[in-house]
Amino acid sequence: MAVVVLNPSCQYGNVIVENDKVVYNEGLNLFDIAVKTKEVLEEMGHTVYITRDKRDEPSDLRTEMKRANAVEPDVLVALHSDATGEPIDPQVGGTTTFYATEKGRALAEYVHKSLCQAISSIYPNHSDRGIMTHWYKLYVLHNSIAPACLTEILFHTNPRERKLLLDADFHLLAAKAIAQGIDNYLKNN
Ligand SMILES: [Zn+2]
Repeated sequence: MAVVVLNPSCQYGNVIVENDKVVYNEGLNLFDIAVKTKEVLEEMGHTVYITRDKRDEPSDLRTEMKRANAVEPDVLVALHSDATGEPIDPQVGGTTTFYATEKGRALAEYVHKSLCQAISSIYPNHSDRGIMTHWYKLYVLHNSIAPACLTEILFHTNPRERKLLLDADFHLLAAKAIAQGIDNYLKNN
């Protein structure tokens, strides 16, 4: 059994506001998905850490990666939701997974495939945007001592996808799929 670190987005500033109300907060929502993913992985027998203790805890990536590396994980998976730039294009959607190393690439493949299969089963128009390296040196991927990937689960700027992102059933579906992808990677590496 393995040590897994989950790194949910701490980007509380990434919000969608409608009629003066915050209807989506990336940091809070991805923490909830990470908690469910942790539960599924623990049922599989893995030891799981999340890089912050509370869903609304002010945090930064430097602190989180220190915590992550301190537990000497076997894998690290960062969880985000995507957004288009301004002005928002509500049509753009789909799921992308980033990696920075060869081992990270293998992890990205397993997690991304499992997650996209699950999402497509309930959302046939889902766009699989693939796995790729990022144009920007993503801090988490470049500072993890373990193989790492970062998944952008759907676009919170797309109303249909935002609805899924906020849905408790979707959280469980995504959690099971991410956990299965991680477990598959661990069994094969
Ligand atoms: Zn993000």
